[in-house]
Amino acid sequence: MKILVTGGAGFIGSAVVRRAVAAGHAVVNLDALTYAACLENVAMVADHANYAFEQVDIRDRAALDRVFAQHQPDAVMHLAAESHVDRSIDGPGDFIETNITGTFNMLEAARKYWLEAGRPDAFRFHHISTDEVYGSLPADPSVQFTEETAYDPRSPYSASKAASDHLVRAWAETYGLPVVLTNCSNNYGPFHFPEKLVPVVILNALAGKALPIYGDGSNVRDWLYVEDHADALLLVLQQGVLGRSYNIGGENECSNLELVETLCAILDAKRPRADGQPYKDQITFVTDRPGHDARYAIDPSRIREELGWRPSVTVEEGLERTVQWYLDNERWWRALQNRSGVGERLGTGK
Ligand code: NAD
Repeated sequence: MKILVTGGAGFIGSAVVRRAVAAGHAVVNLDALTYAACLENVAMVADHANYAFEQVDIRDRAALDRVFAQHQPDAVMHLAAESHVDRSIDGPGDFIETNITGTFNMLEAARKYWLEAGRPDAFRFHHISTDEVYGSLPADPSVQFTEETAYDPRSPYSASKAASDHLVRAWAETYGLPVVLTNCSNNYGPFHFPEKLVPVVILNALAGKALPIYGDGSNVRDWLYVEDHADALLLVLQQGVLGRSYNIGGENECSNLELVETLCAILDAKRPRADGQPYKDQITFVTDRPGHDARYAIDPSRIREELGWRPSVTVEEGLERTVQWYLDNERWWRALQNRSGVGERLGTGK
């Protein structure tokens, strides 16, 4: 199958590109190369005969039409987005333009291409979204997000993703575009851009800096290893029921404080501090993010029962691999630490 992957130079998109090429698919990676992109993430497939790259912005409709006509994909996996909640608090405009207008452009370009190809049944538009569209859960562990949970986004980021999900469903209902959707929990793993919690903690720990925890660290997330997520996405693309959405979680709920303490313990074992003290001594509690959602948790029943998918690693195993990856790939992350905003406190709402 030939898959047009948008956002394939980002964190999750690049994992999808690497997995898809390894599985024998042809991939066209469409990415504008924003501050969050890194083509090194796909360097291992860049010379593959089944791989092509297009530096295109999804806000540019004419360029999208050209890419569809030139590459004739069998399916689209749409991941390109502005993805950092803190940046959405400081500058929501880019999130509206890319996540909403950009998705509208993708849907229109896909619809034009699909109509001109004679409405092929097998065509798929797979929209990749977030569990943050469902809002915030109480602490009660029996309450989780299902695919039926009402949308209740709280941040400019999650509101823009919710809007894009609604557009995708509308294009399916109104125009018959063959779509599938997925909403996943927090990802972590190799190639994670060094502005997100897991890499920030690893890299600050190694640099002897404070490990910033928003509020009291009690916010709960369901951590999903990025390569497990990429496998699930390729499965949904190929076996998901038309028009259906699937929640994808890691079955690994833990609080931010527990997550950071686990990372510190892994680092203590792998790269002990020179003074012999534990890395958790570097933990510092900082002002909370405005509107910080208390808890996200995925009920994974649908994807497990209907498609037979479950995550392959626990959060401890995934974090261990991730820490090792950052220890082994200093050249990769050093280069990204110079990018605008990285290492700064963003999204305080001031
Ligand atoms: P990322 O920020 O690492 O990568 C996004 C990629 O999209 C970058 O390569 C960037 O250059 C590209 N991009 C941004 N704006 C673009 C535009 N206008 N035109 C073309 N390309 C553009 O993001 P990620 O963490 O890999 O997330 C990928 C997708 O998964 C997003 O849609 C995000 O909403 C969703 N998601 C992410 C998570 C997570 O934990 N990271 C969780 C749930 C859902």
